[in-house]
Amino acid sequence: MKYYILFGPPGAGKGTHAGAIAEKYNLKHISTGELLRAEIAAGSKLGQEAKTLIDAGSLVPDSVVEGMIENAFNTIKGVDGFLLDGFPRNLSQARDLDAILAKRGEKVTAVVSLMIDDEVIRQRIAHRAAIEGRADDASEATITNRIKTYHAQTEPLIAFYKEAGKYYECDGNNGTIEDNRNRVLALVESIK
Ligand code: ADP
Repeated sequence: MKYYILFGPPGAGKGTHAGAIAEKYNLKHISTGELLRAEIAAGSKLGQEAKTLIDAGSLVPDSVVEGMIENAFNTIKGVDGFLLDGFPRNLSQARDLDAILAKRGEKVTAVVSLMIDDEVIRQRIAHRAAIEGRADDASEATITNRIKTYHAQTEPLIAFYKEAGKYYECDGNNGTIEDNRNRVLALVESIK
Protein backbone atom coordinates (compact mmCIF):
# COMPACT_ATOMS: atom_id res chain seq x y z
CA MET A 1 0.00 0.00 0.00
CA LYS A 2 1.06 3.57 -0.68
CA TYR A 3 0.86 6.17 2.07
CA TYR A 4 1.21 9.67 0.68
CA ILE A 5 1.05 12.77 2.84
CA LEU A 6 -0.33 15.89 1.17
CA PHE A 7 1.42 18.69 3.00
CA GLY A 8 1.21 22.47 3.04
CA PRO A 9 0.06 25.51 5.01
CA PRO A 10 -3.66 26.17 5.50
CA GLY A 11 -5.17 27.42 2.26
CA ALA A 12 -2.43 25.97 0.05
CA GLY A 13 -5.01 23.99 -1.92
CA LYS A 14 -4.52 20.51 -0.50
CA GLY A 15 -8.22 19.77 -0.52
CA THR A 16 -8.57 21.32 -3.99
CA HIS A 17 -6.08 18.94 -5.59
CA ALA A 18 -6.51 15.84 -3.44
CA GLY A 19 -9.33 14.41 -5.54
CA ALA A 20 -7.29 14.42 -8.76
CA ILE A 21 -4.32 12.72 -7.11
CA ALA A 22 -6.49 10.16 -5.34
CA GLU A 23 -8.31 9.31 -8.54
CA LYS A 24 -5.16 8.97 -10.64
CA TYR A 25 -3.46 6.58 -8.20
CA ASN A 26 -6.53 4.84 -6.73
CA LEU A 27 -5.94 6.27 -3.26
CA LYS A 28 -8.46 7.02 -0.54
CA HIS A 29 -8.30 10.72 0.33
CA ILE A 30 -8.52 11.27 4.08
CA SER A 31 -8.79 14.85 5.33
CA THR A 32 -8.72 15.08 9.12
CA GLY A 33 -10.21 18.59 8.85
CA GLU A 34 -13.17 17.24 6.84
CA LEU A 35 -13.65 14.33 9.25
CA LEU A 36 -13.67 16.78 12.16
CA ARG A 37 -16.17 19.07 10.41
CA ALA A 38 -18.42 16.02 9.82
CA GLU A 39 -18.29 15.29 13.57
CA ILE A 40 -19.25 18.92 14.28
CA ALA A 41 -22.12 18.75 11.78
CA ALA A 42 -23.34 15.51 13.38
CA GLY A 43 -23.29 17.20 16.79
CA SER A 44 -21.22 14.43 18.39
CA LYS A 45 -19.42 14.94 21.70
CA LEU A 46 -16.10 14.71 19.86
CA GLY A 47 -17.31 17.33 17.40
CA GLN A 48 -18.40 19.69 20.15
CA GLU A 49 -15.02 19.42 21.85
CA ALA A 50 -13.14 19.86 18.56
CA LYS A 51 -15.17 22.91 17.52
CA THR A 52 -13.81 25.15 20.26
CA LEU A 53 -10.22 24.32 19.30
CA ILE A 54 -10.81 24.56 15.54
CA ASP A 55 -12.57 27.91 15.88
CA ALA A 56 -9.59 29.17 17.89
CA GLY A 57 -7.18 28.05 15.16
CA SER A 58 -5.54 25.50 17.45
CA LEU A 59 -4.94 21.81 16.88
CA VAL A 60 -7.27 19.17 18.32
CA PRO A 61 -5.60 16.50 20.51
CA ASP A 62 -3.34 14.01 18.71
CA SER A 63 -5.32 11.05 20.07
CA VAL A 64 -8.48 12.31 18.33
CA VAL A 65 -7.02 12.57 14.83
CA GLU A 66 -4.88 9.47 15.23
CA GLY A 67 -8.00 7.49 16.16
CA MET A 68 -9.67 8.70 12.98
CA ILE A 69 -6.65 7.75 10.87
CA GLU A 70 -6.34 4.25 12.36
CA ASN A 71 -10.03 3.70 11.93
CA ALA A 72 -9.73 4.62 8.24
CA PHE A 73 -6.73 2.31 7.74
CA ASN A 74 -8.65 -0.54 9.38
CA THR A 75 -11.91 -0.16 7.52
CA ILE A 76 -11.21 1.16 4.02
CA LYS A 77 -10.60 -1.55 1.44
CA GLY A 78 -10.23 -1.76 -2.30
CA VAL A 79 -7.68 1.03 -2.77
CA ASP A 80 -3.97 1.03 -3.58
CA GLY A 81 -3.21 3.38 -0.72
CA PHE A 82 -4.09 6.53 1.17
CA LEU A 83 -3.64 10.24 0.62
CA LEU A 84 -3.45 11.91 4.01
CA ASP A 85 -4.48 15.56 3.95
CA GLY A 86 -3.93 17.66 7.09
CA PHE A 87 -2.29 14.80 8.96
CA PRO A 88 0.29 14.62 10.48
CA ARG A 89 0.35 18.21 11.70
CA ASN A 90 3.03 18.08 14.39
CA LEU A 91 6.08 15.96 15.17
CA SER A 92 4.37 13.67 17.64
CA GLN A 93 1.66 12.86 15.07
CA ALA A 94 4.41 12.13 12.51
CA ARG A 95 6.17 9.77 14.91
CA ASP A 96 2.88 8.13 15.87
CA LEU A 97 2.04 7.68 12.19
CA ASP A 98 5.35 5.87 11.69
CA ALA A 99 4.45 3.60 14.62
CA ILE A 100 0.91 3.00 13.36
CA LEU A 101 2.27 2.06 9.93
CA ALA A 102 5.12 -0.05 11.35
CA LYS A 103 2.52 -2.18 13.20
CA ARG A 104 0.98 -2.86 9.79
CA GLY A 105 4.34 -3.57 8.16
CA GLU A 106 4.03 -0.35 6.16
CA LYS A 107 5.72 3.05 5.95
CA VAL A 108 5.15 6.56 4.61
CA THR A 109 5.73 6.52 0.85
CA ALA A 110 6.33 10.24 0.29
CA VAL A 111 5.32 13.72 1.37
CA VAL A 112 3.91 15.89 -1.40
CA SER A 113 4.10 19.52 -0.38
CA LEU A 114 2.37 22.52 -1.88
CA MET A 115 4.06 25.60 -0.49
CA ILE A 116 2.66 29.13 -0.27
CA ASP A 117 3.70 32.33 1.52
CA ASP A 118 1.87 33.71 4.57
CA GLU A 119 0.36 36.56 2.52
CA VAL A 120 -1.10 34.06 0.07
CA ILE A 121 -2.47 31.98 2.98
CA ARG A 122 -4.49 35.01 4.08
CA GLN A 123 -5.78 35.77 0.58
CA ARG A 124 -6.79 32.16 -0.11
CA ILE A 125 -8.56 31.74 3.21
CA ALA A 126 -10.40 35.05 2.82
CA HIS A 127 -11.53 33.93 -0.65
CA ARG A 128 -12.59 30.48 0.64
CA ALA A 129 -14.53 32.03 3.55
CA ALA A 130 -16.89 33.63 1.05
CA ILE A 131 -17.43 30.33 -0.79
CA GLU A 132 -17.47 27.57 1.83
CA GLY A 133 -18.67 29.42 4.93
CA ARG A 134 -16.28 27.70 7.33
CA ALA A 135 -16.35 29.37 10.75
CA ASP A 136 -12.56 29.01 11.11
CA ASP A 137 -12.04 30.91 7.83
CA ALA A 138 -14.16 33.90 8.82
CA SER A 139 -12.15 35.40 11.66
CA GLU A 140 -8.86 37.28 11.31
CA ALA A 141 -7.78 36.18 14.78
CA THR A 142 -8.39 32.51 13.92
CA ILE A 143 -6.46 32.79 10.66
CA THR A 144 -3.55 34.48 12.43
CA ASN A 145 -3.43 31.68 14.98
CA ARG A 146 -3.62 28.99 12.27
CA ILE A 147 -0.61 30.57 10.55
CA LYS A 148 1.22 30.70 13.88
CA THR A 149 0.28 27.10 14.64
CA TYR A 150 1.50 26.05 11.17
CA HIS A 151 4.94 27.65 11.62
CA ALA A 152 5.39 26.49 15.21
CA GLN A 153 4.04 22.95 15.01
CA THR A 154 3.64 21.80 11.42
CA GLU A 155 6.61 23.34 9.59
CA PRO A 156 9.15 21.25 11.59
CA LEU A 157 7.79 18.23 9.70
CA ILE A 158 9.61 19.46 6.60
CA ALA A 159 13.00 18.79 8.21
CA PHE A 160 11.70 15.51 9.66
CA TYR A 161 10.66 14.16 6.26
CA LYS A 162 13.68 15.64 4.44
CA GLU A 163 15.83 13.72 6.88
CA ALA A 164 13.90 10.58 5.92
CA GLY A 165 14.44 11.38 2.21
CA LYS A 166 10.68 11.54 1.63
CA TYR A 167 10.00 15.24 1.10
CA TYR A 168 8.91 16.57 -2.33
CA GLU A 169 7.82 20.20 -2.70
CA CYS A 170 6.35 22.41 -5.37
CA ASP A 171 5.41 26.07 -5.36
CA GLY A 172 1.72 26.91 -5.04
CA ASN A 173 1.89 30.70 -4.93
CA ASN A 174 1.26 31.46 -8.60
CA GLY A 175 -0.86 30.37 -11.50
CA THR A 176 -4.38 29.08 -11.88
CA ILE A 177 -5.87 26.18 -9.94
CA GLU A 178 -5.24 24.03 -13.01
CA ASP A 179 -1.58 25.12 -13.20
CA ASN A 180 -1.15 24.15 -9.58
CA ARG A 181 -2.95 20.85 -10.03
CA ASN A 182 -0.69 19.97 -12.95
CA ARG A 183 2.35 20.91 -10.89
CA VAL A 184 1.25 18.69 -8.00
CA LEU A 185 0.39 15.78 -10.30
CA ALA A 186 3.80 16.10 -12.00
CA LEU A 187 5.46 16.13 -8.60
CA VAL A 188 3.69 12.92 -7.54
CA GLU A 189 4.56 11.33 -10.89
CA SER A 190 8.24 12.22 -10.33
CA ILE A 191 8.32 10.15 -7.11
CA LYS A 192 8.89 6.39 -7.40
P1 ADP B 1 -6.73 23.96 6.48
O1 ADP B 1 -6.44 23.31 5.17
O2 ADP B 1 -7.30 25.33 6.34
O3 ADP B 1 -5.57 23.87 7.43
P2 ADP B 1 -8.14 21.67 7.64
O4 ADP B 1 -9.49 21.31 7.16
O5 ADP B 1 -7.00 20.79 7.24
O6 ADP B 1 -7.90 23.19 7.19
O7 ADP B 1 -8.14 21.77 9.24
C1 ADP B 1 -9.05 22.59 9.94
C2 ADP B 1 -8.77 22.52 11.43
O8 ADP B 1 -9.00 21.18 11.92
C3 ADP B 1 -7.35 22.85 11.86
O9 ADP B 1 -7.11 24.24 11.99
C4 ADP B 1 -7.26 22.11 13.20
O10 ADP B 1 -7.92 22.82 14.23
C5 ADP B 1 -8.08 20.85 12.93
N1 ADP B 1 -7.21 19.73 12.48
C6 ADP B 1 -7.21 19.19 11.22
N2 ADP B 1 -6.28 18.21 11.12
C7 ADP B 1 -5.67 18.14 12.34
C8 ADP B 1 -4.60 17.36 12.89
N3 ADP B 1 -3.95 16.44 12.16
N4 ADP B 1 -4.25 17.57 14.19
C9 ADP B 1 -4.88 18.47 14.94
N5 ADP B 1 -5.87 19.27 14.49
C10 ADP B 1 -6.28 19.11 13.21
